[in-house]
Amino acid sequence: MDALQIFYSFREARNKDFLFLDVMNKNFNQKERDLVKLAGFFKKESIRLMNEGKLGEEHKGVQDAVDRFLEHLENHVNTRAFILEQRDYLNKLVKDNAQCPKCHTSDKLKVVGTEKNDKGWKSNRYRCRKCNIEFTWNMPNNPWHMIEYIQQILGDMQAKAENGSAEEKSQSIQAIASMQGNLDKLKPVIDAHEKDYQALQAREQEMERLLHEFKNSLMIEKIKMDTWENRQNQKHN
Ligand SMILES: [Zn+2]
Repeated sequence: MDALQIFYSFREARNKDFLFLDVMNKNFNQKERDLVKLAGFFKKESIRLMNEGKLGEEHKGVQDAVDRFLEHLENHVNTRAFILEQRDYLNKLVKDNAQCPKCHTSDKLKVVGTEKNDKGWKSNRYRCRKCNIEFTWNMPNNPWHMIEYIQQILGDMQAKAENGSAEEKSQSIQAIASMQGNLDKLKPVIDAHEKDYQALQAREQEMERLLHEFKNSLMIEKIKMDTWENRQNQKHN
């Protein structure tokens, strides 16, 4: 029997009119939601049993443990939602100003997919409904690959500037400075986010382990609570 089955049979066997965590955080995933329900139920049960004198004070620890765990989980899922929302936003940050290679307009363009080039950079694939052709835009569609793209262009431009005439050199220097300026704005934002995102991945794994442990400890607690209650019932009968 898994935890939820135990939970449902436990619930049916007892009162049917309890309410647990009435407002569920929308950031919980299904597994977390199930555990939050389970934990809320255990807490209420232990309060009820204690009020009825059917559970010893030593079980009060369950309530504190549930509260602490839920608080920790709540913080985690809220932070996760924030970082993922930020990632989603960053993912859409690069706006192509794509043009059809045939009619040189963007009027009838529609994104039909994405494509990776040999460097692994992802770009949008378009369809021009006027010319009835498809083409892949020559720039990445996301800031992660855009950074690498700009770095490569900068390298090419610097090489060109060194070998060019005086006029070419001065033009290149201006272009390089402007591009470098864009890069200097974009890169710290992406780097900072990437650090948060990597840390989140590590915490997700840790949370996965904690959820599992916590569920097990609730199950053990249930057995203890049942034993206690049965013993008290026997004493009173
Ligand atoms: Zn066209």
